[in-house]
Amino acid sequence: MTHATAQPLYDTYNRAALRFERGEGVWLITDQGDRYLDFAAGIAVNSLGHAHPHLVNALKTQADKLWHVSNVYEIPDQDRLGQRLVDNTFADKVFFTNSGAEALECAIKTARRYHYVNGHPERYRIITFEGAFHGRTLATIAAGGQAKYLEGFGPKVEGFDQVPFGDEKALKAAITPETAAILIEPVQGEGGLRPVPEESLRALRKICDDNGLLLILDEVQCGVGRTGKFFAHEWAGVTPDIVAVAKGIGGGFPMGACLATAEAAKGMTAGVHGTTYGGNPLAMAVGNAVLDVVLADGFLDHVRQIALHFKQGLASIVDRYPDVVSEVRGRGLLIGLKCVVPNTALIQALRDEHLLSVGAGDNVLRLLPPLIVTEDEAREGLARIETACERLSVANKQKSA
Ligand SMILES: *Cc1c(COP(=O)(O)O)cnc(C)c1O
Repeated sequence: MTHATAQPLYDTYNRAALRFERGEGVWLITDQGDRYLDFAAGIAVNSLGHAHPHLVNALKTQADKLWHVSNVYEIPDQDRLGQRLVDNTFADKVFFTNSGAEALECAIKTARRYHYVNGHPERYRIITFEGAFHGRTLATIAAGGQAKYLEGFGPKVEGFDQVPFGDEKALKAAITPETAAILIEPVQGEGGLRPVPEESLRALRKICDDNGLLLILDEVQCGVGRTGKFFAHEWAGVTPDIVAVAKGIGGGFPMGACLATAEAAKGMTAGVHGTTYGGNPLAMAVGNAVLDVVLADGFLDHVRQIALHFKQGLASIVDRYPDVVSEVRGRGLLIGLKCVVPNTALIQALRDEHLLSVGAGDNVLRLLPPLIVTEDEAREGLARIETACERLSVANKQKSA
């Protein structure tokens, strides 16, 4: 039997031939004992790095007491985490999920129910943007609108209208009496690290207010401290109606949340939505532990400070290797390097330097260090990125010579 026919897993991933056995902070260690600087962080998930003592302790302590009871009963740590999210954000209400896509599903359902209980069941359509990524469920691939994710899965879920990113005229033209909401990532992650300009986000808020629409933000990747504020939308000073969260809030434990104002959530009454696992005691123990760290005095200052130095270093690399990389993008520690070479070539060259990164759309390389990264570790990362760029640049020159 060949390896290809013997392997039991769906062939949905092209996996790198690396097997990690353990992690320590920003480092991942393979089963061969090789150490890699992890600037992918499980795709913006390991916000506090690997094996953070406070998270390990929270999970172990909870594991000894109680794992799961279902949402039939009260879960005190769910109330506590919900209250902390309410106290520290725009939100009045929270629904816990297991993933980002489920947080988005809840956000979409919340927006539709809002109009339904307002006597407008016809208002169910949601405007989204080209290059968006909202997850892989049937509704969220329809929301993301990317052909490569929709192909072969039957009719696209109804009710999503996509407009070009940054095209306010097209957006206004897309609003109809059936429109319920606008859904956008404050910083496009998968799409290539494109931040929505602050004035555009404020303009979206106004368009929503003028047309009775809800503003839904997908902060699954950019939320929970990643940009140097708890939520990326805080930079623009806008107040959303609904926000989807996941990734960083669990620090590696699968969890997500949908946050909403009391008004936006008013249609989500007993029995209309549910989840078996969402908000279970294990997830809540870890989520509360993540907030202990992220909300501590000075933590977000640290993220902003490191991000500034790291980006300055990257800008100098862009200056010196313009045949390899052309631009630094993103916000805080949600960083993109626009590549001149194929981004896959740079990802491989970085992996050869034992630094892990992730690709994104628009030929961008994503750098998502854990938020606990120190100045020294960031410098070490920059040195490795510099070496990789230098090697690719030398190879470029040899090719053209
Ligand atoms: C990852 C991601 C999702 C989907 O989250 P899952 O946990 O994979 O379902 C949704 N939106 C954005 C912006 C993401 O980055």
